[in-house]
This record gives sequence, C-alpha cells and structure tokens, in this order.
Amino acid sequence: MMILASALVFAAAYLVNMFFITVLYHRGLAHGSVVLHPRARAWVVRYGSWVTGIDPKAWACMHRLHHEHSDTGLDPHSPVNLGVFGVMLGQLKSYERILAGLSRGNKKLNAVVSDLDFPISWVNRKKVWLLPYAIHLFVAVLLAVAFHSPILGAAYFLGMMSHPVQGFMVNAFAHRYGYRNHESADQSTNNTLVAWLAMGEGYQNNHHAHPESAKFSERWFEVDAGYGLCVAASKIGMVRFPKPGQRLPREECGFASVTTGPASASSTANARASFR
Ligand SMILES: [Zn+2]
Ligand SMILES: [Zn+2]
Repeated sequence: MMILASALVFAAAYLVNMFFITVLYHRGLAHGSVVLHPRARAWVVRYGSWVTGIDPKAWACMHRLHHEHSDTGLDPHSPVNLGVFGVMLGQLKSYERILAGLSRGNKKLNAVVSDLDFPISWVNRKKVWLLPYAIHLFVAVLLAVAFHSPILGAAYFLGMMSHPVQGFMVNAFAHRYGYRNHESADQSTNNTLVAWLAMGEGYQNNHHAHPESAKFSERWFEVDAGYGLCVAASKIGMVRFPKPGQRLPREECGFASVTTGPASASSTANARASFR
C-alpha cells in the first residue's frame, strides 16, 4: 500500500517539477511559444526557484545559449564536448557560471535574456540557493515521520528535485542517441524513451528545427505530453498560445545561428507587449 502511495507521490511531485520546467520555464520564458498570463508569470518569477530549486532567468539564459551554440564549443551542455555522462556535471557547472555572470551584471549574458524584465531570484541574490532544497527535504522528512515511511519521503524529495536528472537525460541522450526528422548542423536527435520520460523534451531534433513551436511532436507516433500540459494550462487561462505576430523574434531567443530573417521592430514590440 505504501509503495503505491509512494509511487503516486513521486509521480505527482515529478509532474509539478516537469510542468514548471517544460511549460513555464522552457516553452514559456525561454521561447515564448506559450505566453504566461501576467499573474502566472509574476508567480513563476517569484516562486519558481522555491518550487524547482532552479532559477528561471538563469535557466532561460543557459537554454538560449544552448540553442544558439548547439553542439559547438560554446554549448553549455553538449555531449559532443563533455561526453554523455560528463553532461551531468557539465550542465551544473554551466548553470552556476551563468547564474554568477547574471548576478554580476555580465553584459553579454544579460543581453541574452534582455526581454526577461526581472532579476535573478531572491534565493540566488541572497546566495541561499540551498534553502529551497532544505525546505523540500524538511517536507520529505515530515512525510516520512508522519506516515512511518522513508520511501514516501524519498519519493516526494526525488520527484520535486528531479530536474538535474531530467536535464541530463534530455541534454545528453537527446543530443546523441535517436532518430532525426530534420537535417541540421547540431547533433540533436529525437529520443523516444527520453521524450516519454521528460514530457516531450526528448524530441530535441524537432524542437531545434522549430523552437518557436509549443508542440515538440511532429509525426503520428510521437507523443508530447508537455504540449498536453500547455493545452490544459491554456484552458484555465494560465498560458495562451501567441499569434504569429506576437512571437518572440528568433534572435531574441538565442537563435542567431538559425535565424531565417531579421525581425521587424514592430514584431519585437508586439512580442514584448505580449509578455507584459
Ligand atoms: Zn537541445
Ligand atoms: Zn528550447
């Protein structure tokens, strides 16, 4: 019975973390392929770090750099440079470096996220980034004690703090193993197992070809559960799908290497307006 309860708690906590990362941080803040309702956006900016342990601005910055420099020497987490298993530590080091650069006011890094008109999170400004992890650990211990089940507590903690493992699966395996629907200069692949485990994020080849699309699946057998979460979130008004003219210009999302044409000033203004 407790094993089943632990599995359900893990699944629920994992879902919360994935929703934040794939819908709110990735498709929302980093790419603007869904537009967050202003209240939802303010909530994510304020509480995202507390829920996931990951800073929304630093995450978006690292991710845009990944798109711009995918699988080159400047990619923050490519298996081409780091090896598949080196991505685990490499992505953490890159994240820390980018977070430190943003907090120091590094001009180049801040330019990458110039449309994200909010500072890095309070926990990172105050250099207490461990606090969210400690709070989730405290909740996990409370659950374990209350229900006399260390497994239940571990399920909660590992589900809520699962992002490093999700990120590793996507960044390492979906840039090395899998099939390709699009020929591209990068090494992105569509990895079905990772896509299933990480709610569509494993379709990196599709996503690198069409980063402006909220939907990462393209072929009939590809299932993007993260897009399903976007649709569900749009039903309750938390996000909306932008009209073509309101999308973020590609070069503002770090897609300089794949830019198809210059964005007009008005499209930039529309995109920024749509985020307010
Ligand atoms: Zn990628
Ligand atoms: Zn992306």
